[in-house]
Amino acid sequence: MNRMWNMLIKPRLEPLKIILLRSLNARMHLTDKDVSNYTILKKGFEGEQKSDVWLEGLSEGWLVLHDLLLEYNNSKFQIDTLLISQDKIYPLDVKNFEGDYYVEGDKWYTSAKKDMKNPVHQQDRCVILLRSLLRELGYPYPLEPYLIFNNPEFHLYLTSINPSLVFHSQLNRFLKKLNARPVNLNKRHYKLAEQLVAIHKVEPPYPYLPGYHYEEQEKGILCPRCYFFFSGMQGLILMCGHCGCTEGVESAVLRSVTELMLLFPDQKITTKIVQDWCKIIKSEKTIRRILLKNYKLNRNGRSSYYSQS
Ligand SMILES: [Zn+2]
Repeated sequence: MNRMWNMLIKPRLEPLKIILLRSLNARMHLTDKDVSNYTILKKGFEGEQKSDVWLEGLSEGWLVLHDLLLEYNNSKFQIDTLLISQDKIYPLDVKNFEGDYYVEGDKWYTSAKKDMKNPVHQQDRCVILLRSLLRELGYPYPLEPYLIFNNPEFHLYLTSINPSLVFHSQLNRFLKKLNARPVNLNKRHYKLAEQLVAIHKVEPPYPYLPGYHYEEQEKGILCPRCYFFFSGMQGLILMCGHCGCTEGVESAVLRSVTELMLLFPDQKITTKIVQDWCKIIKSEKTIRRILLKNYKLNRNGRSSYYSQS
């Protein structure tokens, strides 16, 4: 498809929780529960990525912000996708539900007649908070929220029509409707998008991770493709015996240092610790050269360490 991509201001990034669980899974023994939690998170993220694809049909000029965590009046709320057009803002909640669901009165049930959270209520709460936040920021644009069910294998038994629900078979028409909206955005719209990205909250992943210690982690450099450890080195190139991937030593060390910093935010980064962490690189000189080139050395005799700035 040669279509110009609409203006994407905030892409959907892989959550830190998943990145860190992937490292831990490679470097230590996780319980079955932790592995299943990791698998669920990963599948959820892949589903979200897939569910962004239909938006490619949106005409040029829209501002698209994915995965915002915002706060108003001490209440946090999450917006799956926010579309900014000229005169309206569209908060979209995209659900990848599969199977049959029922609505009776105000309640939603799965096909097994299990109670579930009513996604309309969840979205109403977000919209109320978003409206107040936008007003406070000085952008009282009207909001038009939609709940998008983009899985073709989803069916909802409804007793009344709710125009804010969009099903898979309606997505094309919904896109056409959006594409008919004016999108002559001005500086103010861009400023709003930038402001929302700036106040987006990043939740620390640590409370969601299992307990772990430096000593119990298997040391080595993980292959960025298959997450097995690099097993060979030739000159300044590392090789993965599992998938055949190769990577330059510098980029592999820097990736591993970032991983170390994320897993152990209190750990001081020294040549010695990085050499221990990377394991496969025997030359202390190589590690020191890479660290000196990419980080700031805080000189303090034997307790000198490297930092990002
Ligand atoms: Zn590999």
